[in-house]
Amino acid sequence: ATPVSIMVGSGRAAQMGVLFRSGAALEGLGAAQVVAVDKTGTVTQGRPEVTEVVVNGGWLKGDGELLRLTAAAEASSEHPLARAIERAALGEENDVNSLSPATDFQAIPGYGVQATVDGQRVEVGAARYMAKLGLALGALEAQADALAKRGRTPVFVAVDGELAGLLGVADPVRAGSVDAIRTLQGQGTEVAMITGDTRATAQAVAAEVGVSRVLAEVLPEGKSDAVQELQAGGRKVAFVGDGINDAPALARADVGVAIGTGTDVAVETADVILMSGDLRGVPNAIALSRATLRNIR
Ligand code: ADP
Ligand code: MG
Repeated sequence: ATPVSIMVGSGRAAQMGVLFRSGAALEGLGAAQVVAVDKTGTVTQGRPEVTEVVVNGGWLKGDGELLRLTAAAEASSEHPLARAIERAALGEENDVNSLSPATDFQAIPGYGVQATVDGQRVEVGAARYMAKLGLALGALEAQADALAKRGRTPVFVAVDGELAGLLGVADPVRAGSVDAIRTLQGQGTEVAMITGDTRATAQAVAAEVGVSRVLAEVLPEGKSDAVQELQAGGRKVAFVGDGINDAPALARADVGVAIGTGTDVAVETADVILMSGDLRGVPNAIALSRATLRNIR
């Protein structure tokens, strides 16, 4: 590519809200055969809401108390799920100080959190976290499956080593996601989704946006391995993500694309930055990259 065509291409991209960090990124993106997208915060809005609260049969304290204990345990967590639970527990009053203080807080990335609240041990997280703790899901398992099939992320809560309940958390897809993925496929690119979320939840969201290849229940440190898996046979892979846990995958991909409203680490690691959260920036940038390459031949 000539410096002039790269300059022209980068300038056009900037007008569309796409920043290329280098000429190599502008050339590389159009050559990607696979575009892998992170789910939470990339395909979806990343502003989850608690939509269901299920109290386990034997736990008599009720759904208000379940939410308050869970929110207290999540107070120090930076996960988007934690903020959703906090908003649900506080409702209108919205006063964080009205929650009991938590001690011994610990985050287990990719699994959940644990903390002590009002002298009780509270553990919050995915089914695999409950499995790690040796807790059987019992009747909640079928309810969690039903929620997951509707695209909800199931969040289990254990109090003093007993399963107390289950929250369903919804994270709507972004307005441009369906269109973006259809356009990418029309450009001859395979689209895959990588997420730490439950398989059934991931598949429901993937079906909603038209993605058939899903790598789910990927631990934070496994996202770059997932990209490597997609690179099998020398295929060029672009990865699109927004979170701290996406940084290794952004670095591993042939081209890393960050959502500009995402976390600093993701933006700093990426080769391409989408200034708006709209995923349609990716097919637009690919079209531009290809046009730039054609111009120089
Ligand atoms: P992703 O952002 O792709 O969902 P994460 O690795 O951040 O991936 O989380 C994977 C899963 O672990 C989440 O979907 C959730 O089920 C569980 N989890 C992680 N952190 C928390 C938390 N603070 N509270 C509840 N669940 C959590
Ligand atoms: Mg994300």
